[in-house]
Amino acid sequence: RIVFLNGSFLPIDEAKVPFMDRGFMFGDGVYEGIGVLNGRLVDNEAHLERLERSLKEIQIPNPYSRAEWTRLEEELVRRNNMTEGFVYFQVTRGVAERDFFFPTDARPTVAMFTQAKSIANAPAAEAGISVITVPDMRWERRDIKSINLLAQVLAKQAAKEAGAQEAWMVQDGYVTEGGSSSAFIVTKAGSIVVRPLSNAILPGITRKSLLQMSREDGIVLEERLFTVNEAYDAAEAFLTSASNFVVPVVRIDGRPVADGKPGPVTKRLRQLYLQMAAGPALA
Ligand code: PMP
Repeated sequence: RIVFLNGSFLPIDEAKVPFMDRGFMFGDGVYEGIGVLNGRLVDNEAHLERLERSLKEIQIPNPYSRAEWTRLEEELVRRNNMTEGFVYFQVTRGVAERDFFFPTDARPTVAMFTQAKSIANAPAAEAGISVITVPDMRWERRDIKSINLLAQVLAKQAAKEAGAQEAWMVQDGYVTEGGSSSAFIVTKAGSIVVRPLSNAILPGITRKSLLQMSREDGIVLEERLFTVNEAYDAAEAFLTSASNFVVPVVRIDGRPVADGKPGPVTKRLRQLYLQMAAGPALA
């Protein structure tokens, strides 16, 4: 397996990050994850735009232009012969003696790897998954895609121990988002409900594409908060992420959503998203 680290492509066992990297010591960095289908990066421009914003918010200089990032991602996909899965990369503030203040002379550390994975033909994603709800314990700048994922690690582990596959985090009774996904419900009238963008959630790229697709498809959108109780009573529920696209949620805290099977709106959106991601040649 080949990874990219600070300018070089090399076997993963040879890729070493220095002990004093601020990503390791402070979680001082940001990341991106981009889906790959048929060897193509899905929504890459939007991911790079979000990366630029995350870096700016924490004052790390962007080491590459969008064209350079794209070239690196594509080269890594090619070197790993990957056709389906995802590309992960992170940028940390770099290596410096441990001190909270920004170092004046550090260069950002850039690490990138690929993970092969079935996204289009994923049985769980077809059949639907279970989620549990947990308190959202994160900081107040969830719009930054920070590598600090401790709250999500704990939330998703709790989900796993409860026999579920994802955790929906809850603040003041309202669902914020999934541990690593955006959360949606479908009302009995057939409209999609999703939390509006703010500092309380990550601006999901899959969320953004899905909303655009839904608008074009004539589906009614309600960008507003929704409670856990509303989710229990919803006609359908689903989640989106770059590494899973659109996945039905068929149980919430052990209760079936409607009849406990993926609903028609979710199935249609998954299909539409897969077509878009597959690219013009296969659409
Ligand atoms: N929310 C959180 C907290 C996430 O970690 C992710 C996945 N990185 C998402 C939402 C989904 O975002 P995207 O569609 O850009 O993968």
